[in-house]
Amino acid sequence: MKDSNDKLMDKIISLCKRRGFIFPGSEIYGGLQNSWDFGPLGVALKKNIKAEWWKRFVQNREDIVGLDAAILMNPKVWEASGHSETFSDPLVECKECHTRFRLDENGKSQAPSTKSQINSPPKADPPLAGNGQSGKCPNCGKENLTEAQDFNLMLKTSLGATEGKGSEVYFRPETAQGIFVNFKNILNTTRKRIPFGIAQIGKAFRNEITPGNFIFRTREFEQMEIEYFVREDEWESWFTHWLDQIKQWNVDLGLDDGDLEYVEVSEDERAHYSKRTVDIEYKFPFGQKELYGLAYRTDHDLKAHIDVSGEDLKYMNPDDSKDRFVPHVIEPSFGVERTVLAVMLSAYREENISSQNSNNQAPNNNGAEEENDVRVILKFPYWVAPVKVAVLPLMKKDGMGEKAKEVFDVLKLEFDCEYDESGSIGKRYRRQDEIGTPFCVTIDHDTLENDSVTVRDRDSLEQERVAIADLAGYISGKLNK
Ligand code: ATP
Repeated sequence: MKDSNDKLMDKIISLCKRRGFIFPGSEIYGGLQNSWDFGPLGVALKKNIKAEWWKRFVQNREDIVGLDAAILMNPKVWEASGHSETFSDPLVECKECHTRFRLDENGKSQAPSTKSQINSPPKADPPLAGNGQSGKCPNCGKENLTEAQDFNLMLKTSLGATEGKGSEVYFRPETAQGIFVNFKNILNTTRKRIPFGIAQIGKAFRNEITPGNFIFRTREFEQMEIEYFVREDEWESWFTHWLDQIKQWNVDLGLDDGDLEYVEVSEDERAHYSKRTVDIEYKFPFGQKELYGLAYRTDHDLKAHIDVSGEDLKYMNPDDSKDRFVPHVIEPSFGVERTVLAVMLSAYREENISSQNSNNQAPNNNGAEEENDVRVILKFPYWVAPVKVAVLPLMKKDGMGEKAKEVFDVLKLEFDCEYDESGSIGKRYRRQDEIGTPFCVTIDHDTLENDSVTVRDRDSLEQERVAIADLAGYISGKLNK
């Protein structure tokens, strides 16, 4: 059964903390405004997601190369991109309790998403104008709000020993601009021909007015972005290509198609330079919200950098020097933390163990099952699972512990493995189910006699007897199926 009740977020947050996926940031000091730290399993999960993304879009393709640009960039970058001027959200303050919040999150105005506001032409009839904003404060419920003000979301810091004007720089609010400013370097060093793309995974920072919903909206997060450079007359087919790629990625993450919506962003909600934007939205327990974005950014960014930097960022066809132009761009943009959250929500299951077959018990474990008969499972696709194999001696005594260690030492060279010998076997199975481990290898009395183990399948609960000599091959066969 897939849990779809309102408590799902609470259950996920609690599981994340309990099992070491995600902890509240700076917890021993009372936390820091919705910041989160990824623990041992969380970091392994993120690593798997980022590695697969990189393999799929960079390593396996001839037409995409990678980049890791600096987080702190020359402030002129943000002038050219429009972020200094217009990367803002509408901020209102309650005059009673002084809570500040983003207007569109109060349900009173549906402001366009932050990125799409960049360089958008001023609206003839701004929805936020007026003397004071009508609506209730989400904190105290009173109706006494200030007028909405544009609040720039870029986080500032200063470089060098002197603070103040001239030393101010921004933590990048998106990874994309690092790609545009390196366009020429990459062209010159890789000799790629259009169409080609540049991919980057890295941190981005936004001084969100109201961060929240666990890791959905934070001020520090990671993006996986591609700027794909094309000829203008080919943008439509490449847009379709990237939409298909995102759809396939979502399938491979195990996201239910019914939980996803591919929303065409209307012309007045798009940036003025964008001819098409699709928001990929996921039905989170707190509402349907953006998971990823796909935008056709025309030749806007490169042109803006040509204007502000004075550099020639045109592409020249190596076979035809007259074929020179500013390429157009398709941008698929993926948030790492939102991926983690959607994957966890999709994978979470509670199963009534009494309705399962008796295979949830290890052989010779004397029927030891836990009293609590609800089995919590993270049914991750195998490639996502932070731990692939758990090695569990039925008991520590009689040499089973030593034998299990031997098996673990071999398997760990090939797979993300965990060794666990504490507590009853039933409890250990439950723990592995809860962190989404596809296979549990149990070392029992028979192992000592005939060098075979049982392999328990997370989803079917079936157990197979496998010779230790065949174990690694057996597991990799299952994982790569
Ligand atoms: P939103 O409307 O939710 O603020 P956005 O439209 O501003 O999002 P983009 O600028 O398109 O988001 O950023 C690309 C991707 O980066 C998003 O689709 C999302 O996955 C991720 N992302 C953006 N802002 C945040 C954030 N504050 N916390 C976590 N991930 C984020």
